[in-house]
Amino acid sequence: MSRIRSKNTGPEMIVRRLLHKLGYRFRLHARELPGKPDVVFRRRKKAIQVHGCFWHRHSGCQDCSVPGSRQEYWLPKFAATVARDEKTLTDLRALGWDVLVIWDCETRYLADLEKRLVRFLGAPARDDLVQTG
Ligand SMILES: [Zn+2]
Repeated sequence: MSRIRSKNTGPEMIVRRLLHKLGYRFRLHARELPGKPDVVFRRRKKAIQVHGCFWHRHSGCQDCSVPGSRQEYWLPKFAATVARDEKTLTDLRALGWDVLVIWDCETRYLADLEKRLVRFLGAPARDDLVQTG
């Protein structure tokens, strides 16, 4: 649930620190874009969303369990979150943005994460060093 989620959660900080270390410059939580993507690369027109496996329903993930009780409470909430995520992706792509979704559990494997980020973004360019947004 993006509305109750903390802006600086652990997995998002892991991604941001790694991007910084690799030499990328980026903006955070671009309010003018659908879904306020967590990390935005304006010149590349690419955005990264870091999703919690539980709330955002990482299918097949061990962190994506359904609570045993009060399913009438949880299931509609999950469905609404997934529907909102899908709409955000559709809206961003309609505006010409590439979007990479990183799940919380994927931030545990930094070497793999680094490869995915570089593949998605391309090598850090020299003007990343001076880009302010
Ligand atoms: Zn997961």
